[in-house]
Amino acid sequence: MLQVLPLVLGPVATNVYLIADDHTNEAAVIDPAWDGQAILAEAQSRGWRIGQIWITHAHFDHIAGAGAILANIKPPPSLALHPADLPLWQAKGGAEWFGIQIPAIPQPDILLQAGQSLRVGQYEFEVRHTPGHSRGHVIFFCAAESLAFCGDTIFAGSIGRTDLPGGDEETLIDSIHTQIFTLPDPTRLLCGHEEETSVGKERKSNPYLR
Ligand SMILES: [Zn+2]
Ligand SMILES: [Zn+2]
Repeated sequence: MLQVLPLVLGPVATNVYLIADDHTNEAAVIDPAWDGQAILAEAQSRGWRIGQIWITHAHFDHIAGAGAILANIKPPPSLALHPADLPLWQAKGGAEWFGIQIPAIPQPDILLQAGQSLRVGQYEFEVRHTPGHSRGHVIFFCAAESLAFCGDTIFAGSIGRTDLPGGDEETLIDSIHTQIFTLPDPTRLLCGHEEETSVGKERKSNPYLR
């Protein structure tokens, strides 16, 4: 079974997702927001081995825990990011715009592309490029489990902010229509903040997407 453990970490209550195939104990971290040691401890207590870190987008509140995870696992997990968010990555995710310091983080070693597939144990995830909140934002869709990790694209009843550098509202709305609303209605949407929702629910009632 695919295990999904959400953790809410950091100064802006970001959802970190620790996912694992419980047959093989292979695990990945999606958006290590903060406190890498806490994420590691959760994995260790379950016997999960973190082999990969996947980043939906490079805002500071989704990446700040990556350094501690990479430094404490031998060999270090791979680190995957869409190249259009590399400038944001170099700028430490814009932490300084908010007067926040984050620790240094190594360069990503996997550059994600639309349509690429990623795997945790037996579970396959499709990478979909969803610019608008940031230029290199991606979501990770697992068809077999009918869920998508959608970062800061869409929220229950809302959409991601588009006022930060690289943001664009028209682009975001287009990404949601072409990359998220093309998924089946029952698909669970596990967001970067707050509670989960589904494609069907947001298609019906999200006021930003009429
Ligand atoms: Zn963001
Ligand atoms: Zn965020």
